[in-house]
Amino acid sequence: MSAPASSPAYARPTRARRPTPAARTGASPYDPGETPLARTRRARRMARELTVLHPDAHCELDFTNAFELLVATVLSAQTTDKMVNKVTPTLFARYPDAVALAGADREELETILKPTGFFRAKANSVLGLSQALVERFDGEVPARMADLVTLPGVGRKTANVVLGNAFGVPGLTVDTHFGRLVRRFGWTEEEDPVKVEAEIAQLVPKKEWTDFSHRVIFHGRRVCHAKKAACGACGLAQWCPSFGIGPVDPELALKLVKTPTASDTE
Ligand code: SF4
Repeated sequence: MSAPASSPAYARPTRARRPTPAARTGASPYDPGETPLARTRRARRMARELTVLHPDAHCELDFTNAFELLVATVLSAQTTDKMVNKVTPTLFARYPDAVALAGADREELETILKPTGFFRAKANSVLGLSQALVERFDGEVPARMADLVTLPGVGRKTANVVLGNAFGVPGLTVDTHFGRLVRRFGWTEEEDPVKVEAEIAQLVPKKEWTDFSHRVIFHGRRVCHAKKAACGACGLAQWCPSFGIGPVDPELALKLVKTPTASDTE
């Protein structure tokens, strides 16, 4: 069955099949009996399919250098990338680097950041971050994980975004979409993002980590939603042990698939 002409290319009606036992019973989709080799092969097959489904996957935050990406990533907490992209042109025109931002007028900064929500906390974060960059790294963003995670408000997720997208150092970005999807894929049972990152690093070749993260996040935003997964329109269905946690009927599922604009929710 092919998708209706109006469906995006990443929506692929599946051949009707029954929901998996895990989807029917609510059990964990992780199969402890699957050998590491079988899991790795299945993971690589699914990762290849994600490259076909989401060839355009990329970092959706606008930036021109590592400093801008670091700040934009901190601002993206609890809001959409699109909203961040609306405020950062004004922010970086006014405060183009860490030195300028470290000396920002708090009231003016809060006014610029207001549309992103939690603007007082975010103003604190970016001020503290910029001051630390000036004091400890000559105003430059360090290109090492060990240094990045010493910056206030920067955890491994943010550090991996910056490493992968600004410095070309492969990184897995374990955000809520990524964690949810790899658990649904039955690749890991871990909930802790650091443990998830370590397990997925064993399954996916290092050079693919950054683009793989974008593809998984795109799939989570557009097809495999937290509440109603579009299983019946999912190109990964045949390898996914969670198939059936959302509607398996292709027509129903296609209605759940989101377009890039509509899916930009976090
Ligand atoms: S949409 Fe359904 S089949 Fe596709 S990855 Fe998510 S849970 Fe698996």
